Amino acid sequence: MPRKLAAGNWKMNGTTGALAEARALAAACPEPGVSVLICPPATLLSRLSDLLAAGPITTGGQDCHGATSGAHTGDISAEMLADAGAGSVILGHSERRADHGETNGEVRIKSEAAIAAGLVAIVCVGETGAERDAGDTLSVIEAQLSGSLPDTITPATLVVAYEPVWAIGTGRVPTLDQIDEVHTMIRANLRARYGAETGDEITLLYGGSVKGANASEIFAVADVNGALVGGASLKADDFLPIIQALEAS
Ligand code: PEP
Repeated sequence: MPRKLAAGNWKMNGTTGALAEARALAAACPEPGVSVLICPPATLLSRLSDLLAAGPITTGGQDCHGATSGAHTGDISAEMLADAGAGSVILGHSERRADHGETNGEVRIKSEAAIAAGLVAIVCVGETGAERDAGDTLSVIEAQLSGSLPDTITPATLVVAYEPVWAIGTGRVPTLDQIDEVHTMIRANLRARYGAETGDEITLLYGGSVKGANASEIFAVADVNGALVGGASLKADDFLPIIQALEAS
């Protein structure tokens, strides 16, 4: 069975005061029955990693550069994230693809760099609203998988997150049938590319307006092994019910 994962993406939110939310979450679920991850802004990563070090909740970055070091002002390497305590990194999030023009090829290079640095690469794919309306959802995601995922992975080094762009931060959620259709396709794609044994073990996350109120039904969809959560991961009181729903799934 794939590892179940509840991953929080704080995006560009949070200064020192936000550490209290992570402290509250750690106190509320000292022994979660699933993997729990928080990806804070880079400025908080080291302190958050120290704060959570004694417990099971892990930390991650939200992006990394494809190179190990060099003249790349403002960027952070995968090795630096690992040095700051991260165990994972989100790559190819739709906001990075939109705000920074990240291509599938760049996401693949970053993913390879992340894995080489010992991080779990959480690679995001997902269609825009226009692409869904045009009936292109599956072909868009297939192209993203083909272009963004490294050739050499294991279920311990790769997580794939399906995040329809139109569902992120909007309160709009696909139907369960729509989530099922995409996750079934992604699972088949991973089995074809990496072999059935490896493909079946890779954790697949759904992301896009997951809340405590809708988490249980989403986690009941076949091949949904957890969630990538934005807004509802910022407060312990909002993230906790999602973790609990995943534990119960
Ligand atoms: C995300 O940023 O990956 C995300 C899914 O955001 P939200 O949960 O706020 O829709």
